[in-house]
Amino acid sequence: MILTQCAVCATELGLTLGKKCGRCSTRYCGAACQVQHWKEGGHDTLCKKIKKAGGAEQYNANEKYSEAVAVAAEACADDTKGQTCYICTQALHWKTKEGLVRGCACRGTAGFAHVSCLAEQAKILFAEAEENNLDDKVMNERWARWHTCSLCEQDYHGVVLCALSWACWKTYVGRAERDQARGMAMTELGAGLDSADHDADALSVKEARFSMLRRLGAPEENVLVAQSNLASTYRSLGRLEDCLRMQGDVYSGTLKLYGEEHGDTLVDANNYAITLSELERYAEAKSLYRKTIPVARRVLGESHDLTLKMMMNYGGALYLDRGATLEDLRKAMTTLEEIDPTARRVLGGAHPTTKGIEVNLRDARAALRAREGDVEPLRAAVEAMAPGDA
Ligand SMILES: [Zn+2]
Ligand SMILES: [Zn+2]
Ligand SMILES: [Zn+2]
Ligand SMILES: [Zn+2]
Repeated sequence: MILTQCAVCATELGLTLGKKCGRCSTRYCGAACQVQHWKEGGHDTLCKKIKKAGGAEQYNANEKYSEAVAVAAEACADDTKGQTCYICTQALHWKTKEGLVRGCACRGTAGFAHVSCLAEQAKILFAEAEENNLDDKVMNERWARWHTCSLCEQDYHGVVLCALSWACWKTYVGRAERDQARGMAMTELGAGLDSADHDADALSVKEARFSMLRRLGAPEENVLVAQSNLASTYRSLGRLEDCLRMQGDVYSGTLKLYGEEHGDTLVDANNYAITLSELERYAEAKSLYRKTIPVARRVLGESHDLTLKMMMNYGGALYLDRGATLEDLRKAMTTLEEIDPTARRVLGGAHPTTKGIEVNLRDARAALRAREGDVEPLRAAVEAMAPGDA
């Protein structure tokens, strides 16, 4: 499902194109690549091994998992020196011989563990919840062990999250396509790859997840989440046009599903407008903000972080637009001046939104001063020509 390229020439196959090895399910664009792989790519010896592991997807997951664990342990080596795993109490894992990691908010001597031990724990906890048909709340709490530390309750990040997400995918990849845990594991993997900046890999996982959900006719809310995850990877890859297209779909989807007053709709509107601004499509960004800011003020309130962010970005779009009129620049100033004290009071001076407002305010002021500098002498000249008219 995430192996969507020919194993030899890397041609993109999507979910259905090409040929599969009849024994191990390795995928190829056609017979030529398959033959070459067998003769020169070592598939004659690998095929049995892959089949034994459970097929190409499982084999790939296992391999990637081992690589990711080695990378994570290596990256954590300095931090974990002389420590032991809080789960198995050993320094080296008894079976895999892997080193320790720590990638959460644990400090001091807390939180050192083997990725294998963390994964085993998550697997057992979730299996128990599944067996006993525990309710959704418990299921979600158990599932959270795949991405959140049980000691500090903070999310894992970077290469540690990435290794754990491969562990998760490796655990559930063999299940049926419609299986819920398998789907969630795919989302975990996308997030893990994001966190370790493997954007290209994250993209193929998220694209596969998105088209799978559509094909299976999944509930719209799940499709929208997958689509919005995909948009963020397009952004990381600098593919802003693709990002914008996705965000546009997500925004109209949430608008239809939840209505204009829902928090998700407002978040999606803001994301869409930010990308419009980045692509210098300020007119569209401003018109979207004029429509959605009044809703945010009414529903979320004047001092909500999102309301403040939307107004900050609206102010930005007003003065950044090359075609901005003097009136636009003044409007940018008043908008930003209006929210500045609120952000300081509610979020504090060090908050990113407050900082952003500060920067925008400074730049808008400079733009306004430059423009007024152009206009003032002109006005003076006009007034001098027609004395007494005013
Ligand atoms: Zn090929
Ligand atoms: Zn094969
Ligand atoms: Zn351990
Ligand atoms: Zn922790």
